Amino acid sequence: MNWLNIPNIDVYAVVAILVFFAALEVIHGHYHETHRNKHDWTLELIGFFVVAATKTMQVLAVVWIGDALLPAYSNVLSSWSIWLALPFYLLIDDVSQYWYHRFAHEYEWLWKHHRVHHAAKDMGILVSYRNSWVYYMLMPNLWWGAICTYLGLAPAVILGLIIKQVVVTSSHSTWTWDRFWYRHKWLNPITTAVERIFVTPAFHYSHHGRSMADNISDPNGNFGNTFSLWDQLFGTAKFTRQYPAEFGLQEDTDDPWYAHLLYPFMKAPKAESELSKTFKKEKQTGTEPYREVLQPGTYLYCQCGYSKDQPFCNGYHNGTKIKPMKFEVKSERRVSLCTCKLTKTPPYCDDSHLSLRS
Ligand SMILES: [Zn+2]
Repeated sequence: MNWLNIPNIDVYAVVAILVFFAALEVIHGHYHETHRNKHDWTLELIGFFVVAATKTMQVLAVVWIGDALLPAYSNVLSSWSIWLALPFYLLIDDVSQYWYHRFAHEYEWLWKHHRVHHAAKDMGILVSYRNSWVYYMLMPNLWWGAICTYLGLAPAVILGLIIKQVVVTSSHSTWTWDRFWYRHKWLNPITTAVERIFVTPAFHYSHHGRSMADNISDPNGNFGNTFSLWDQLFGTAKFTRQYPAEFGLQEDTDDPWYAHLLYPFMKAPKAESELSKTFKKEKQTGTEPYREVLQPGTYLYCQCGYSKDQPFCNGYHNGTKIKPMKFEVKSERRVSLCTCKLTKTPPYCDDSHLSLRS
């Protein structure tokens, strides 16, 4: 079995793609203006090696288990044409990553392992390596790649990983190649076709935007990695062809790199961090409406009830399936916003809180 030769080709291709995009980011002056601190650099560089080590371990584990228990399956699909093997590997890889990523936003336990990805205040190619070690170990599509390799589909896995690497690296990169396409209306049919199939920088930037209030970001949508198809199919796609101005977590506790990468084995020192030993999200619902004068603007109303900035969103809906509700205030006015979350006319109070008194 020649699988031992395989990762080398992949590693060369991955490094070449990263060097290409890194060069473009440097040329565009991105690293002069970065918001990254020492912890960000450390965790992004270590994160890169964590992924490489995890993938290698997964391949070794699958070969070891396969040889011990199911040796008949070794290379059993090696006669498959690349035209069959590539979509078989890549589509299953990407749809499983879509759901894993989506679950990471919907379930608190997994969110803590993906949170580091969204703690990045800047975009850039290294952002794609920001996830905890546990997140990578449990990533279904990495295991799928190892299984396909064992089954004899290594050429398809390599080609698939290269395609994926180009799309994922470019969608995180500060060199936003799609900007040019949006500016030229006559390119629209091609632009539309490309963005409806592949994840573009604008599409993925929206997922990294700090909050939905900017009308561009949707941190609880656009979960796709290589293909935008899954988001369209499962109702989470948002195409704006614009880029958010602010990235990162709404409630950032500036956690150290080791807590981000090694949670739950290492925890964050600040008690208010979601990664601390004592952190617990608690419902912050009230019994009286919030009556204040609001200035004109876009606001996010907390619907999950966990926000500490009631009745407004502070990002704590991450780890739940509930999204905040966006509402506009056109001119300065006094509002009465629901805090008990029982209202039938959110975000406004409909006196449902009176039922709590009985
Ligand atoms: Zn995410």
